[in-house]
Amino acid sequence: MSLAEQMATVTDAAAGTVDRHATTETFESTDPATGAVVGVFPVHDARAVTGTVGRARTAAPRWAGLGFDGRRQRLAAYRGHLARQVHELADLVHRENGKPHADAVLETALAIDHLAWAGAHARRTLGPRRVRVGVLAANHAAYLEYQPLGVVGVIGPWNYPVFTPMGSIAYALAAGNAVVFKPSEHTPAVGAWLAAAWRAAVPDVADALQVVTGAGETGAALCRAGVGKLAFTGSAPTGRRVMAACAETLTPVLLELGGKDAMIVDDDADVAAAADAAVWGAMSNAGQTCIGIERVYATSAVYDRFVAEVTERVRGLRPGSDDQAAYGPMTMAAQTDVVRRHLEDATSSGGRAVLGGTVDDGFIAPTVLLDVPESSAAVQEETFGPTLTISRVADAEEALARTNATSYGLAGAVFSRSRARAMDLARRMRSGMTSVNSVLTFASVPALPFGGVGDSGFGRIHGEDGLKEFTRAKAITRQRFRLPVDLMSFSRPPAAADTLARVVSLVHGRRR
Ligand code: NAD
Repeated sequence: MSLAEQMATVTDAAAGTVDRHATTETFESTDPATGAVVGVFPVHDARAVTGTVGRARTAAPRWAGLGFDGRRQRLAAYRGHLARQVHELADLVHRENGKPHADAVLETALAIDHLAWAGAHARRTLGPRRVRVGVLAANHAAYLEYQPLGVVGVIGPWNYPVFTPMGSIAYALAAGNAVVFKPSEHTPAVGAWLAAAWRAAVPDVADALQVVTGAGETGAALCRAGVGKLAFTGSAPTGRRVMAACAETLTPVLLELGGKDAMIVDDDADVAAAADAAVWGAMSNAGQTCIGIERVYATSAVYDRFVAEVTERVRGLRPGSDDQAAYGPMTMAAQTDVVRRHLEDATSSGGRAVLGGTVDDGFIAPTVLLDVPESSAAVQEETFGPTLTISRVADAEEALARTNATSYGLAGAVFSRSRARAMDLARRMRSGMTSVNSVLTFASVPALPFGGVGDSGFGRIHGEDGLKEFTRAKAITRQRFRLPVDLMSFSRPPAAADTLARVVSLVHGRRR
């Protein structure tokens, strides 16, 4: 099939979702395991992006005007559609991203759960409410509500092409915004599928969720298209470029960036459970998980047992593209080079790979690295591959200090049987999210905010904070009755200031 024919197929199949506009340039997305073409998509230029945002801007008041109930109903129809087609979507994710079908089903199920939560909690979180007035405004009523921003631009990565963008899309839509989504150039078919599903499930406000396709320049055009907010998920270097582009038009940004998450295994931890969780946290999705575990700090008391438990489990893992494989190929060829560089740096600086360390045609063997110096790239930089460094520390305090010593601060995990100790370590971990005695769990709790600190970005998706992120707070006061003396009037009597001073002294003056 020629490129033009393939493009026509994709466009038609998506029922107009990927509108070509005047674009003639195209790009392919390919199966990382086989190189087979999954789809051909237009490279949307600035004009096409502006046109799409314009359509979204027209749809936005209608979408907002549906109110919380109308939107909740339509978000329910959308999640119903995703749930019924989950295998079709998972198959597409498998072909375009490379992850096992079962992992793609899990990812979609999580996204559906977030859609349900966002729809169900938007009114309570954002809807109008009265707030208490202070002494100085006792004759007024005060109201607070959170209003939508209009159109939200969402730029997504390829590693969780359903779950990750949905963390912004679901919450932005539930808050009353229209959305223009630019999926990664490595997973455009998944993005197009999600938009086509929206058109099918919500035909009366189909333009409330649209997709533009292309690489970095298309994303940059979305930053400059005058959206109300730009939600970016991707790497820290690109995040800096996105923020700079958004600064040109003072477009607010939400940045969900990379991580170098660590697990702390304390003296009293369930070592087998910690090892099991570390292996899943490090190797699932070929390690291409922003909140994946890349480093473990195990105390001397448990280090040897922990290493033995991890290596036993990792020995049983096999990468591949079949249903039995533990994880798939690296989605992006360039990431393989990053992993290779980290492995070389780790081993040349005194570390050793007790397992793995090999790269075979896009598949990286599960790799366990010991004795890697803290200064090594494998400990400091995001590796984004199926690798794990394990370091021996004297105690949990040393583990925490090392955990907190990178520029990233996305998430992490603590394993300890002492609830008080584990909670204390979790609180002091410099990260946006921490799970105790498990890994990644916070991402599956829709009520919990998701986001990082430092080079991992700022702003929050998920939960009430995630809903508020896509709104602006609106404050209103309404005078209920006039006071005999109006302090904010040039007609106030000269004695009013003395009376006010006495009242303030009575109310606050006793405080020392
Ligand atoms: P990336 O930064 O290369 O690309 C992300 C997106 O930005 C893509 O859609 C890309 O086309 C677009 N883009 C590139 N240049 C741009 C520009 N100048 N202006 C606007 N958009 C531009 O990231 P990636 O390789 O797709 O994803 C992997 C990264 O994402 C990892 O660092 C990972 O940790 C991170 N990530 C973070 C989270 C989180 O929630 N914190 C979740 C998933 C992935």
